[in-house]
Amino acid sequence: MSDCLFCKIAAGEIPSTKIYEDEYVYAFADIAPQAPFHAVVIPKQHIASADEITADNSFLVARVFEAVAKIAKQENLSDGYRVVNNCGEAAGQTVHHIHFHLLARRDLGWPPG
Ligand code: AMP
Ligand code: ZN
Repeated sequence: MSDCLFCKIAAGEIPSTKIYEDEYVYAFADIAPQAPFHAVVIPKQHIASADEITADNSFLVARVFEAVAKIAKQENLSDGYRVVNNCGEAAGQTVHHIHFHLLARRDLGWPPG
């Protein structure tokens, strides 16, 4: 997707603060952090939202969660963390490339509101 912000970030065309990278996944610091630790974890391949997950691309979501477990160890998030996906406008999705917020290092509260 040539016009997608997160495709450009994954390709290194727009700068970001890298937290983790492998063949399928890229994670970077959120520019408007909602917690002391706030990473955005994305598959490098464009998927518009959780609504677009299919049998053909769902392995990328599994790769994202494998990466989350690695990042949690890498960043020593041993007190716990939250993974959030916003799907669609009412849920607050502003970038239409599937992404998972990884939030940590504060009391996150439950229910989230
Ligand atoms: P969402 O509202 O769930 O679509 O999340 C999009 C997230 O991307 C927000 O938390 C933004 O702060 C973050 N964001 C937008 N542009 C950038 C950027 N250039 N670098 C890092 N994070 C960004
Ligand atoms: Zn994209």
